[in-house]
Amino acid sequence: MLRSVILAAARSSKIERLVGTAPVSRSLVRRYVAGETTAHAVATTRTLAADGLLATLDYLGEDTVVVEQADATRDEYLGLLAALKGEGLAGSAEVSVKLSALGQRIDPELAYDRAREICAAAEDAGTTVTVDMEDHTVTDSTLEIVQRLREDHPRTGAVLQAYLRRTEDDCKTQAAPDSRIRLCKGAYKEPESVAYQRSLDVDRSYVRCINALMAGEGYPMLATHDPRLIEIGIDRARWYDRGKESFEFQMLYGIRPTEQLRLAAEGYRMRVYVPYGDQWYGYLMRRMAERPANLAVFARSLWTK
Ligand code: FAD
Repeated sequence: MLRSVILAAARSSKIERLVGTAPVSRSLVRRYVAGETTAHAVATTRTLAADGLLATLDYLGEDTVVVEQADATRDEYLGLLAALKGEGLAGSAEVSVKLSALGQRIDPELAYDRAREICAAAEDAGTTVTVDMEDHTVTDSTLEIVQRLREDHPRTGAVLQAYLRRTEDDCKTQAAPDSRIRLCKGAYKEPESVAYQRSLDVDRSYVRCINALMAGEGYPMLATHDPRLIEIGIDRARWYDRGKESFEFQMLYGIRPTEQLRLAAEGYRMRVYVPYGDQWYGYLMRRMAERPANLAVFARSLWTK
């Protein structure tokens, strides 16, 4: 119930204005967001790399309905990729892109064009792109666009959300040679007709999806902080005789950092999703919804400098 309310607020421009003008504690935003500029993203990548961690960098922003803003987002990614290349960090970081920030809701074809430019720049820099998954109304459109991006850039990653009832089948279809699939639980408010509502059912689906991806020929990217699912991922990789280089774990910046270091120290590929930029509202609200205990901290931060 609380999760639904927070996720509804994540989509409300009125509440965004309220929160945006409130003195939201800088430390709360900083816990989850690496900074505002390309330089912050690059510096964070360098720090993570020094600890043996990989990164995927996300320039914050979503649901763009303004063409100029979609172009500006593309330009930011092109600048970021040039910076990673210039700093010799392209081996340590890839980028995560939301198609809605590239104008998917205005015209999916234009979002595809912009994503293609980003994929070409990533390839030139020596790295890859993963296309984030948003709510279920764009699942088909997003997977279709990733499929087309893969024609020229086969290592373009897709994201599948275990809370969707369709996802086990999608995992089986998508786990083809060379594919890179990030499996997450899913962060949006979805109706029962398309998504499991009980966390137990989502977890069970996640396990079935791990099996499908590990049994397939692609590169699974297990994005979760859930200790049980991480253990099951390790167990399933052994079962399917996969080496540690044939899959990776992913977690969000600021969440379970000690566990991130532990997995890296044990030789697993561990990638941290690093958001940056000033459009942090929707992202922060989804993080609040994942953990009700965060809400008290958040509420307090609205009234404290
Ligand atoms: P949970 O059951 O939510 O959490 C397990 C444990 O992790 C919790 O008990 C707690 O200890 C810790 N934890 C989890 N979240 C928090 C938090 N916010 N603050 C503090 N502790 C926390 N979702 C999408 O819909 N589309 C995407 O493209 C997408 N990309 C992602 C990329 C990465 C790398 C990751 C890690 C997640 C991504 N997500 C995405 C979000 C995901 O769907 C979940 O909402 C989120 O990861 C929480 O689920 P969980 O698997 O960690 O399990």
